[in-house]
Amino acid sequence: MSRVYNFSAGPGVLPEEVLREAADEMLDYRGCGMSVMEMSHRSKVFENILDEAEQDLKDLMQIPDNYKILFMQGGAHVQFAAVPMNLMKNRVADYIITGQWAKKAFKEAQIYGKANAVASSEDQTFSYIPDCSDLPISPDADYVYICENNTIYGTKFHTLPNTKGRILVSDVSSCFLSEPVDVTRYGLLYGGVQKNVGPAGLAIVIIREDLITEDTLPYTPTYLKYKIHADANSLYNTPNCYGIYMCGKVFKWLKKQGGLAAMKARNEEKAAVLYDFLDSSRLFKGTVRKEDRSLMNVPFVTGDKEMDAKFVKEAEAAGLVNLKGHRTVGGMRASIYNAMPLEGVKALVEFMKKFEEEN
Ligand SMILES: *Cc1c(COP(=O)(O)O)cnc(C)c1O
Repeated sequence: MSRVYNFSAGPGVLPEEVLREAADEMLDYRGCGMSVMEMSHRSKVFENILDEAEQDLKDLMQIPDNYKILFMQGGAHVQFAAVPMNLMKNRVADYIITGQWAKKAFKEAQIYGKANAVASSEDQTFSYIPDCSDLPISPDADYVYICENNTIYGTKFHTLPNTKGRILVSDVSSCFLSEPVDVTRYGLLYGGVQKNVGPAGLAIVIIREDLITEDTLPYTPTYLKYKIHADANSLYNTPNCYGIYMCGKVFKWLKKQGGLAAMKARNEEKAAVLYDFLDSSRLFKGTVRKEDRSLMNVPFVTGDKEMDAKFVKEAEAAGLVNLKGHRTVGGMRASIYNAMPLEGVKALVEFMKKFEEEN
């Protein structure tokens, strides 16, 4: 067996320890004689898996008691619709457009009500976060929406926007559990788990209890009502059982690493290795305004498409894979999620140095 350094933006790298543990339990989960994939979601054994996952997430993020954790299927895209369907009481919401995911969520919200784009960084290919200290927030906005870490463009909100008293909704898919967050600043935050937490096909929604109501938009599919999931403790229908089990393992792994403050320190150390090199390199350049750089996704270019392609190809042959950038930015992107070890980032930088000398 040989594992590569996987810089994929998503689905992304998972901790090897977690994968090994899951492999050990694949045929017989702790003496049950069956895999977690084969057991009833109503069984005591699975209920324990779900309860522990929820409690561990609560501990990690210090989620207050007046917030609910929902495990829902369908990834982040389903939330693009669920958020307006559940929260657009006045049918007005303000969106800050910092990339493709925010834009897609914005377009989806336009189906259901008046969605306003109150700020955008599209003028410079989303390479920065706009100043959100004094935006024209609609007085009747049901919420203000952001995509907190822009997976494709490599930017991150290091300061949350001033929502002028309106509820903040955040897509945290690609920065989930990468550092501590103050949950009380949000009405709702959610993430597809396949970037930083677990296998694809599951979204975790953390929502303030008073926002969970029967009062959803007409025609809201039953499955998309937050209240249905909250009342059923995420067991309204068959949930993504195996996904929840894997996320639970990653939560325990994160606790063992020292929690989110420790992860933040590690992630900062890892990112600095790469950004410091980019800032001193003759050949490679980062594409994001320095103060808005993400700790998780690092896009960079050489400025020459053929050179970029050569780099990606040679890196892959050296066991550094999935470095091709998103088609809208070009160049390269290294996603250095929680499970990417420091050695992986160092190996990448060493390879970049060597490539620079040779080209
Ligand atoms: C990947 C990603 C999405 C889309 O996730 P799906 O689970 O494929 O729907 C949405 N938002 C962000 C920030 C992402 O990184």
